[in-house]
Formats: sequence, C-alpha cells, structure tokens
Amino acid sequence: MPIRKRRVSWLAALMALMLLLSACQSPSVTAPATTETPATTEAPATTEVPATTEAPATTEAPVTTETPATTKPPVTMSTASLEVHFIDVGQGDSIFLFCGGESMLIDAGENGKGEAVLAYLDELGIKELDYVVGTHPHSDHIGGMDTVLQKMAAKKVLLPDVEHTTQTYEDFIDAVIACGAEAFPAQVGYSGRLGEATFTVLAPCGENYTSLNNYSVVLRVELGDISFLLTGDAEALSEKEMLNAGLVSQATVLKLGHHGSSTSTSQEFLDRVAPQYAVICLGQGNTYLHPHRETCEKLEQADIDAFWTQNGHVVAITNGRELTFNRAPDTITYPVKEEDKPVQDLPVQTLPPPQTLPDQGEYIGNLNSLKFHKPSCRSLPAEKNRVYFESRQQAVNAGYEPCGSCKP
Ligand SMILES: [Zn+2]
Ligand SMILES: [Zn+2]
Repeated sequence: MPIRKRRVSWLAALMALMLLLSACQSPSVTAPATTETPATTEAPATTEVPATTEAPATTEAPVTTETPATTKPPVTMSTASLEVHFIDVGQGDSIFLFCGGESMLIDAGENGKGEAVLAYLDELGIKELDYVVGTHPHSDHIGGMDTVLQKMAAKKVLLPDVEHTTQTYEDFIDAVIACGAEAFPAQVGYSGRLGEATFTVLAPCGENYTSLNNYSVVLRVELGDISFLLTGDAEALSEKEMLNAGLVSQATVLKLGHHGSSTSTSQEFLDRVAPQYAVICLGQGNTYLHPHRETCEKLEQADIDAFWTQNGHVVAITNGRELTFNRAPDTITYPVKEEDKPVQDLPVQTLPPPQTLPDQGEYIGNLNSLKFHKPSCRSLPAEKNRVYFESRQQAVNAGYEPCGSCKP
C-alpha cells in the first residue's frame, strides 16, 4: 500500500507539472510538436524506413500465433507515408502508427500480448517509440503495455487522468515510471507530429465517468486529405461530448469504439464522421459477443467497408492522397447467442431474428444436457439440439433440469 500511494502521487505530481508546463508554453496546441521534432532526428528516416518496408514482406505474419494465413504484407511505402497498423491481439486493441521515422503505439492488448506486440514491432524494425498511448485502464488495452515498455524505449506517454485498482493498472504505471518516459495527461486539444502527419487529442472531454471506457483517449490522426479517428473504448456519452464540443469532423477511417459494442458508435457520431472505412479490433469468439448487431447494421446501412482484426492484422498506408489496405474488407458478420454456431459462417442476412425465439415455446430444453432455459438465456443450445416446452412443469415432467444461470 505505501508503495502504491507513493507511486500514484508521483504520477499525479508529474501530471500537474506537465499541465503547468503546457499551460505556460503557449496557447497554440501545436507548439510542443515544433520543439519535439529536432529531438527525433536521431532516428534517421533512411535506415528505419527500409526496415519497415522489407519487414512483413517475406516473413508475412509478425505475430505468427495470432495471424491467419489471409494476412498479407503492407504495401511498400515512401518516407512521406503514414502507416496505421491495427495489430491482431485477439480481444483487445493495439494500434501502431509510423510516419517519417516517428512512431506511436496506442494500447498493447491484454496481459500476455505484450510479447506479440514486441515481435510485430521488431519485424517492422522499430527500436523505440516516440509516443505511447494507454487509452484507458482496462486490461484489454494496457495489459500488454508493461511488457512492451520493459523492452522498448519510449519518449512520451499519454494517458487519461484516471486511476484503477487492478494489478494490471499497477504494472502499467510501474512500467511507465521505470521506462523514464515523460507522462502526459491526455488533454483535449493536445497535438503533435509523427513525421508529416499530425495527431490531436479529442477526448476525454469530461470527468467523473461511471464507465472507465469513457476516459478513453481519442485521437484524430491526419496526413493530407486522409484521416483516422481512433476511439479506444469511448462510448456514446463521450461521442456526444465530442460532438457537442464541435470536435468531430469527417474522417476517412474510423476505429469503432469498444470493439463494435452497441455502447458505442451512436448513429449521430457515425453520421458526422461519415467514414469510408471502419476497423473493429476484436477477437474471434469473444465472450462479449462483439461486434454487436446494432453496430453492424449501422455499418451496412451506411455502406461502409469494414475490417475485423480477428481475421488478421489490418494495415492502412496513405501518402496523404491515396489510401491502401493490406487486404480486402471483411464480410460484416456478428455473433448470435446460439453457442454452437460458428461465427464466420453466419452472414447477417441469414440470422434468425432473436424475437422469434420466445414464440416457439416458453422454455427451451437442450437435448444433450437435459437442462432447460428461458428463451432469453445466453446459453441456449444450437437449434438442432433444442426441444421446446410450453410450461415449466412440462419441462420438469420430461426429466429436464433448470439452467443454473437463467434459473427458469
Ligand atoms: Zn474498456
Ligand atoms: Zn476494450
């Protein structure tokens, strides 16, 4: 406990100092970028860029255990290109940005994913990170970051001004302190440069959120005409605040908030961003049933091409005018509650409407387990293993036992 207290107050003091400095420095949010640029010239673009282009080309999957064979190498880029890598870390976020020899890592997936992220960066020839962003304290975002920071130098760390009580968060803060990087509270309006590209913090706009997700650091990254909106797990409340503050404009690529959950990507937000492409960071068969139907339907209605990291890394490369991806967009699908149906084989159109389930009987039995469920239970058996009962008594008389979770 004493250690933790000291650590937290250290961070608070550091953040207070940074706040003061940034307040004194200038009213112009771009000011820090100008002073930073000389510091990073030590990373010569000439040696770094070839490493990046060559890396994934022949070795294909940097994270071999995670990556399906469908992953293709990023397109060759010039020094003026911005690369945005949405790394497949299973259920979680990890996004790597690189432009003109400067780099940013946003999140590093769950605990245990740090090594995979490091391996990916190693394949790209990345030796140090100019910026690290821990969007918010949930483990599927900062879980792997301690491992990354223990092995790779970082200059600046942006994180929201909120604490969490988990060991994962403690480990993350320990690693931030130990790595010697400057830690900044991510303030709306803060901006900087990655080579020719610029980034700006759009959220969190408020405080005292009940959901940690709304503390997510949201970044807009631009090169020329092409822009990326990277939203962490920001939910509808944060989206509304950004809209109300006039911070949201059209973006070419939207990384959907909260893994495609219905908590995020409100219609108003999506309409304002009006992206050409959407990326969802998520793992196959995740227990949250991400991405949610509501979100997928919005994407379909707006005819937005979408990429799922569960089908492999997604790499976007732009010269500021054109944008290319390392592979074709994915088919928009979402999981349904029937546990035995494979997620990928379910085109949206063929899904049974959920509301039809209760009409077939008040209780649903599982022919294999001889348990019976309410139609709303999350553990309903596959269609072929179902038997329907009109009453609880009928199920009991047939020798079925009530499910322990829905307690019919
Ligand atoms: Zn979260
Ligand atoms: Zn998350």
